[in-house]
Amino acid sequence: MAKTFKITIDGTPYEAHEGKTLLQVMRKNGIQVPTLCYHEALQPIGACKLCGVEVLGRSGKPKILLSCVIKAREGLAVRTKGERVEKARHLAFHHLLAMAPQSGRIRELAETYGVSLGPVADGCIRCRLCIGVCKEIVGVGALRLADRGGHRFIVPIEGVCIGCSTCVNICPTGAIHMKDEGDLRTISIRDEVISINKLERCEACGRFFASRKFMKHVEKQTTDHAAVKEHHLYCQSCAKLFSNRIRSSKRFPRRG
Ligand code: SF4
Repeated sequence: MAKTFKITIDGTPYEAHEGKTLLQVMRKNGIQVPTLCYHEALQPIGACKLCGVEVLGRSGKPKILLSCVIKAREGLAVRTKGERVEKARHLAFHHLLAMAPQSGRIRELAETYGVSLGPVADGCIRCRLCIGVCKEIVGVGALRLADRGGHRFIVPIEGVCIGCSTCVNICPTGAIHMKDEGDLRTISIRDEVISINKLERCEACGRFFASRKFMKHVEKQTTDHAAVKEHHLYCQSCAKLFSNRIRSSKRFPRRG
């Protein structure tokens, strides 16, 4: 029969059996600490470092030790809360998230223990250049910053985006994507679609080149401009080609 003795956890005395780890004693008594790498059927490895607790040994000096690997000993005083434990837990959670930034499980567990891990890693640094360019330069205002579950995200305002792709080009981290397929252009961030817009063909070369809504937007903005005589649907390359021809024909007028 295994020897039993007393240990103290968060100021309360508990009975522990020789050979059992602190984590096993805590779990048996309903005391929770976070773990990710611990499995009852396997030897503990202490890889995730989440189960750190403050242990006051015989020396009287408090230390943060991994409760999954430390065996319970007569007279140990353990603390599962407090500044030192929280600091170690915070570090461990951040370290794990750096290795697995897309893990929802790490975030969920951290939240349960009151540890904030900051915004979700979605490639966006929240610089808001996309919001600014869409509003100030394009004059549309299709993006905004929104709070979702305590974290801020760039999100679309439904039905507003005209598919110009200016935000895609200005984004410094490549977090906003554009995909042209057939006559459709999709603008998205994360797995969220900002818009799907119909594309127009270039009148000269026949390639799809700009969204219909964007061309209408340009038309509206430039209609009253003195220099604009008529609107054409030319892609960038064809427009450049035509303007070069016009320029060179002015420089070298044909002889009659
Ligand atoms: S693609 Fe849409 S969201 Fe991006 S700048 Fe253009 S209108 Fe705004």
